[in-house]
Amino acid sequence: MENCLFCKIAAGTVPAQKVYEDAEFLAFNDIFPAAPIHLLIIPKHHVATLSDCTSSDTELLGRMLALVPKLAEQQGCHVQLDDAGNRIGGYKTLINSGPDGGQEVYHLHVHVIGGPRPWHGKN
Ligand code: 5GP
Ligand code: ZN
Repeated sequence: MENCLFCKIAAGTVPAQKVYEDAEFLAFNDIFPAAPIHLLIIPKHHVATLSDCTSSDTELLGRMLALVPKLAEQQGCHVQLDDAGNRIGGYKTLINSGPDGGQEVYHLHVHVIGGPRPWHGKN
């Protein structure tokens, strides 16, 4: 898609700090991180918003979501058990959709936001 920033990142014509790539998806560091770890996962194929996804995108969406814990583990912010059996670590997973959802870049992306608290508020 012409003039789409994330299509340009997927094509390699705009640089980004890539942390993961496969045939369908790319993940890279957010340029303005909201936390110690802030990744964006995008499908290489252009879809503007979650609301533009159709039934043919269902499996792609599932695979994109399944990438989240995998990349969180790669980044060291996955959910795990400590020696006492308590859960530690963790991250937020966010998809902003449309103007009222706060979406700024109209190419579907999942934010993965993590790192030790206190970096963020409750939401
Ligand atoms: P949205 O508000 O659309 O959900 O999030 C867009 C995100 O893209 C923002 O967190 C913003 O910091 C990030 N972003 C905007 N431009 C660039 C860029 O050129 N490179 C990278 N790596 N991230 C960007
Ligand atoms: Zn795009």
